[in-house]
Amino acid sequence: MIKESNLSLETAAFREVVGAGDYYLGKVSAGQICRILDLEGNQAADTLFYCVDDPSERYSATDTIREQHNVYLTAGSVLRSNKNRAMLEIVADTCGRHDTLGGACATESNTVRYDLEKRCMHACRDSWMLAIAEKPEYGLSKRDITHNINFFMNVPVTEEGGLSFADGISAPGKYVELKALVDVYVLISNCPQLNNPCNAYNPTPIEYLVWNA
Ligand SMILES: [Zn+2]
Repeated sequence: MIKESNLSLETAAFREVVGAGDYYLGKVSAGQICRILDLEGNQAADTLFYCVDDPSERYSATDTIREQHNVYLTAGSVLRSNKNRAMLEIVADTCGRHDTLGGACATESNTVRYDLEKRCMHACRDSWMLAIAEKPEYGLSKRDITHNINFFMNVPVTEEGGLSFADGISAPGKYVELKALVDVYVLISNCPQLNNPCNAYNPTPIEYLVWNA
């Protein structure tokens, strides 16, 4: 569902460009709104959310899909934790659909899916690990790297129930905006994937913005 935001860039309290293949880890307080902006289009932002009061409570794809009766995320979707708590709500979306089934790329999956030689290629899982290693104060470890959301990524489910990694439906300037319902940590890998069309084989920068309540 396409829903535009009425927030203006000038009033954002925080802005950071996350380079192609780079990552971001930060906190959003309850009531704040964060936006992920696809600057050049066709990018994938592999994202995880954690509850600040107990980071072992985190975004859960299964709870979210079950409660909203839909496999895609878009405006109106409430992102739920593994304790079925509402963590964030998507309040604006100009892309229209986001994936939470396809998972994130890892050196292991690149090896299995594509070629043994892809083993050394940069992958989202490594970016997340670097982010949490650089900020130990967040209290996150390898065990917290779990199932994620792929903002802007197009993984249509076929009539037979199959998954296909398809060309992106995002475009330059498209964005998704989320309102935090509790204090959350946001962990984003701006996907460096070069083997499938999730980012058009060409990783590009995104921008992350936060507005105060
Ligand atoms: Zn990736």
